[in-house]
Amino acid sequence: MEKTVAAISTGSAPGGIGVIRISGPKAIDIADSVFYAYDGSSLKDLKGYRAKYGNIVIEGEKTDNAVALIFRAPKSYTGEDVAELSVHGGMLLVRKTLKAVLDAGASPAGAGEFTKRAFLNGKIDLTQAESVAELISAEGEQSLKASFNALQGALSAKIGGVLEKLLDASAVMAAWVDYPDEEIPEITDGELKQTLEACGAELKALLDGYENGQTVTKGVSTAIAGRPNVGKSSLMNMLTKTEKSIVTHIEGTTRDIVEETVVLGGLVLHLRDTAGLRSSDDLVESIGIEKAYKALDTAQLVLAVFDSSQELGEYDRDLIERCKTKRAIAVINKTDLENVLDTKEIEAAFPETVYISAVNGSGYDELAAAAERLLGVADFDSSAPLLANARQRQNCQNAYDCTVEALGALEAGVTFDAVNVMIDSAADELLSLTGKKANAEVVNQIFSKFCVGK
Ligand code: GDP
Repeated sequence: MEKTVAAISTGSAPGGIGVIRISGPKAIDIADSVFYAYDGSSLKDLKGYRAKYGNIVIEGEKTDNAVALIFRAPKSYTGEDVAELSVHGGMLLVRKTLKAVLDAGASPAGAGEFTKRAFLNGKIDLTQAESVAELISAEGEQSLKASFNALQGALSAKIGGVLEKLLDASAVMAAWVDYPDEEIPEITDGELKQTLEACGAELKALLDGYENGQTVTKGVSTAIAGRPNVGKSSLMNMLTKTEKSIVTHIEGTTRDIVEETVVLGGLVLHLRDTAGLRSSDDLVESIGIEKAYKALDTAQLVLAVFDSSQELGEYDRDLIERCKTKRAIAVINKTDLENVLDTKEIEAAFPETVYISAVNGSGYDELAAAAERLLGVADFDSSAPLLANARQRQNCQNAYDCTVEALGALEAGVTFDAVNVMIDSAADELLSLTGKKANAEVVNQIFSKFCVGK
């Protein structure tokens, strides 16, 4: 019999309420042994989707007021009997309640165990389970929408549709091969080709949207680069709206790299404010400068900052040169001061040039729009089905390759049974994607990345 497991589901920081979730065949008995309802009733007699108000009682002592929520299998998150005890959210109280629940017979839930049980009990498929982790870690508006969309089953439905077409074609072909004399509806080369082309196109569209989806949902590593004093730290502050980067007029203040994640328009940027690009005899500063060049080289996006109140210098030109092979936006700062900089050279070198004043915050919206355009996410549709990670992408790519191979074979006049093997392989890949055929190791690996309590 499946173990009954329990964990704190509300994280490890104090809050107004803390929830201890218990799932498994003994969930309600265990909850009942630590919870006493004010009306004297037993949780064991409570129907699903019902709540009771009462006390948590630990070793005979009333410890807190609490609400017990009961879900009866299969109508619960995990598909099993579930009890949730909501207590006040002090960590000592929450931990004590969990300990009482464990002492009463529950085992500690592993990472992602509730969601894993939901998957194993057929409540959700693997793409939906993965979207739960994405939803929890979402940092941007678009990312939140995309993961909720996946949780609602958008990707599952898309994959399910392709799978159905492939399996239908496969079944008819198999019947044809196995029972040539029976009256089985004929499938022609042309029809089969059409089906395979349609399936291939749908998978290709998913694959094409992957990079954009990753950019929007996972965020973009972004280096803020420029020579000293152009306003890199000030730009960082403007974007983070905090004073995290130290802003001074003495060169070399940002000796190391300051990192921060910010939301800019529909994008999440993992920002790195780097040391000013120049040469220095100071050993510590040189290390910082070296790191700055490295950050610039590895970033997915560069915000190249220039000072509009100064003429273009050697290090500005060096930055322009380095940005030629990068996705970079020229950010011309200090536009509140008198303009001295000849911006033509910069505008010609960058696909996007934005004018800002980091001290008064002007140009923020223009910078957001430029970043969205440059990264190709201006028209990103977060309601469309999206491949969420490398695992899903690989399965989808393999399935697509199989459909292309099957089409090629069909055109080359290969026999139906050989073509059918390729179609079955494509279907297998899609079944792995949604988890209907995923192996246990893959499943364990996916859930090990979850937090405990989810
Ligand atoms: P960094 O060395 O590139 O990081 O430059 P900082 O952000 O430390 O800024 C250097 C100096 O320029 C500071 O005195 C800032 O207050 C000033 N500064 C930064 N941005 C602006 C701006 O938009 N307008 C004006 N007038 N001064 C700015």
